[in-house]
Parts: sequence; C-alpha cells; structure tokens
Amino acid sequence: MIKIPLHVLTHNAANFEGVEPVTFLEMPDTDIMRFPAEVKYALRAQLVDGGVLVEGRVETSIVAQCGRCLIEFERPIVNAEICHFYETPSKDMLDVTDDIREDIVLAIPYNPLCDDECKGLCPDCGVNLNEKDCGCQEKRRNDSLWKDLDDLKFEK
Ligand SMILES: [Zn+2]
Ligand SMILES: [Zn+2]
Repeated sequence: MIKIPLHVLTHNAANFEGVEPVTFLEMPDTDIMRFPAEVKYALRAQLVDGGVLVEGRVETSIVAQCGRCLIEFERPIVNAEICHFYETPSKDMLDVTDDIREDIVLAIPYNPLCDDECKGLCPDCGVNLNEKDCGCQEKRRNDSLWKDLDDLKFEK
C-alpha cells in the first residue's frame, strides 16, 4: 500500500519514497515474463489549489523472453512521469496504491523484445540473426529471383 499522510503536506513538495514487494504489481509470473525485483517509488506530493498533486517515478524490472529471438533478458521498467491530481480527500491518508500500480503496469511491455531492432531467428535454419548472418535470406532472395526468371521464360 502506498499512502500519503495529508496532514504533513504543504504547498512545498514533500518526498515519499519506499519499496513495495513485487506482489504489489498483482501480476503473476508467466512463461515469458517474470518479475524478479521489488517495486521502488519516489513520489513528491504537495497541496495545490483544490487538491493534492502527486508526481514522481516508480520502477521495477522484468526478466522476459524476447518475442522474436527467444533469448531471455532482464530490463528495468520505469515510469518517471507520474502525475495525479486528487481533489482534497476527506480522509487523513491519501491512498495512491491503485494509481501507482497502474502507472507501472502500463510501462510493462505486452510483447517484450530484447531490443526494438531485434532481428529474431532465421525461419529457415533457426540461427539468431542478431549474432550472425546465416545467409539464408540472401539465398532465398536469389532463389526467388531465379524463380521469377523461370516464370518469365515459362510465360514466353
Ligand atoms: Zn530478441
Ligand atoms: Zn538461416
């Protein structure tokens, strides 16, 4: 739970930092993604006209299998642009748990890739194309070139 005690807030930003266990995410591990780390947050809260402004960042990390090359990788997941406004709450404690959870869950990729530029596996020989060029693609292109030529001849 991430709660901000309202009675300490002023018009100057106050820092609220902490760590939540990974269960905070409420996301189960799957075959393609695990959550190995805790969830760290660093929030700033202050009174503003008509309510409370909460800004800051939240981070954790994932261990995931790349959707293209199937290699397992670990990567930090960060949302540094948290910004929520709450109309002056009636309670003493402002519970921001659900909003912060959403902020970090939205930053988790749906289809994780080791790199946006990941070339994946060769569909012909299965080689990881990030590590080496197997030449299959070139061969395929030549084959289809010859095939096009054959077809041309055939049509004549
Ligand atoms: Zn990859
Ligand atoms: Zn290949």
